[in-house]
Amino acid sequence: MTEKIYSPDVVIVGGGVAGLTVALNLAPRRVCVITKNNLGVNTSSSWSQAGIAASIDKDDSNEKHLDDTLKTAKGLANKEVVEKIVSESVNVIKDLESIGVQFDKNPDGSFNLGLEGAHSHNRIVGSKGDSSGIEIMRGLINKVKSSEYITILENVSIDSIMHEDNTIYGVIGRFTDKNIPNNHVVIQSSHIVLATGGLGGIFANTTNPRSSYGEGIALAAQVGATLTDMEFVQFHPTGLDFGLDPTPLATEAIRGAGAHLVNQNKERFMLGVHPEVELAPRDVIAQNIFKQIDMGNSVFLDCRKNIGDDFESKFPQVYSYCVKAEIDPAKDLMPILPVAHYHIGGVKTDLHGRTSVNGLWCCGEVAATGVHGANRLASNSLLEALVFGKVVAQQINNEPFKKQIDKITSSFIRTYKEKTRSKIRARKYIWQLRSTMMRHLGIVRNQSSILKGLTEIIRIERESRGLSAKLNDMILVSKFIIVGAMKRTESRGCHLRYDYPNEDPNFLKHIDQSQETLIKDLENIQSKSELFIEKSFAN
Ligand SMILES: Cc1cc2nc3c(=O)[nH]c(=O)nc-3n(C[C@H](O)[C@H](O)[C@H](O)COP(=O)(O)OP(=O)(O)OC[C@H]3O[C@@H](n4cnc5c(N)ncnc54)[C@H](O)[C@@H]3O)c2cc1C
Repeated sequence: MTEKIYSPDVVIVGGGVAGLTVALNLAPRRVCVITKNNLGVNTSSSWSQAGIAASIDKDDSNEKHLDDTLKTAKGLANKEVVEKIVSESVNVIKDLESIGVQFDKNPDGSFNLGLEGAHSHNRIVGSKGDSSGIEIMRGLINKVKSSEYITILENVSIDSIMHEDNTIYGVIGRFTDKNIPNNHVVIQSSHIVLATGGLGGIFANTTNPRSSYGEGIALAAQVGATLTDMEFVQFHPTGLDFGLDPTPLATEAIRGAGAHLVNQNKERFMLGVHPEVELAPRDVIAQNIFKQIDMGNSVFLDCRKNIGDDFESKFPQVYSYCVKAEIDPAKDLMPILPVAHYHIGGVKTDLHGRTSVNGLWCCGEVAATGVHGANRLASNSLLEALVFGKVVAQQINNEPFKKQIDKITSSFIRTYKEKTRSKIRARKYIWQLRSTMMRHLGIVRNQSSILKGLTEIIRIERESRGLSAKLNDMILVSKFIIVGAMKRTESRGCHLRYDYPNEDPNFLKHIDQSQETLIKDLENIQSKSELFIEKSFAN
């Protein structure tokens, strides 16, 4: 086996908005950015549609943006962190414009601001209607490629973090291109930034790239990092039900532009449910769509009256999905379903993106900074990734840099070789896991569904042991979600339990977890599971 060995000042695992922002702000440090695909491909960042929330309009204010974010977060957001991102929103837009990103403007030169659910003001800065991610990433990628201090390693998947005594030393990975034989990559560094994105890929229906399955969370957990809020998975109400995997998204901005939600009887089922009707917070909409589906109804977006022939120019990306499905949004109803979309929880960080492991930093969707609380306000995630990308870089720039210790690296390479020897694809089990998580840990949960979910995940683990590192990571991440969902015996934000339908003030707190707590937590849940099964037989 040949190993390519790199020794940059900082390793950034992930080339989405978060990772690229860290890289651009680290100059003149020597940086290595690693992505599983070609830069920009299969990232949520490139797929993002509506844009970035920014209180840029003269009648808007940081206070209003702060207020909307805190209200949506249902008491669990860290106010200090929210103040930080909200107060930086205008600067973030200016930074992007300065590297050539073009946002949609009105004829008078002002921003053409979109509206999304639970925002009290039009404040979404977007590009080419619903193609914001493509344009933002175009700007960031051009800048990164022209920066001589940044090395980009494309098509490399990081499988392991080298560590000792709660301190990291680097990462080990491999080229994903099977035509490059035995080509492993070792990157030594005392500073690693995980910017690996979300985990929607562990659910059967998701808007995320399938490669977003919480790998960064698994990597961090394996070196002892503290995780938090793992139970908070946000489901987007309007995935396009065209039978595709991943599910294409119909951005919330479509409802902001006046589209209605209807069932097959043309009933606007959100009327009377929430004062904001179709622009109620995401959890409220997703749960009501779920109720309709549970009653046997089909659910649609009706864009015919309020958007009509303007659909193609306003939402070109969604329009192109519709054309492929032979649906004309100006004439036809668009079938939709709620889908796993955004993970609020993740690797716990402080106000500067530091994790509990020395030298390990996180930002973007993999990080749990405390911005979103129990529910994310639409378009605050790109904002968070851009603001924290800069914060992490500034903090790292202030740190001393250590020389690498080669003996640690060699011992890790040996273990890594053994770990990867039996790697094969395990599609059947991956699909079973994704279906289990969707069915039992989806939009609505209760004790029975969570226990069924755990039983299934343990069966999958037992039957598939060692088949694939990807599956092992998915199992680990699922277990953390299951523990969080079981422990939070209340409904709050995007965590909805039928058996505990109300908010409980005792749960105005975060549920922290780690690899160390997991075994004990699972034992406790399994003993409940046995009692539960006994009780069901007795009945
Ligand atoms: C369809 C869709 C629409 C959205 N629309 C919006 C929106 O309008 N506004 C908004 O604010 N948010 C939106 N979001 C959410 C937002 O896009 C994401 O939260 C954000 O882009 C995450 O950025 P990131 O840099 O953390 O991760 P990503 O952009 O997902 O990038 C992750 C990177 O990590 C790499 N990676 C992962 N694991 C490894 C590994 N083991 N080894 C090497 N590389 C690895 C990947 O290759 C990739 O480069 C949307 C999300 C989706 C899916």
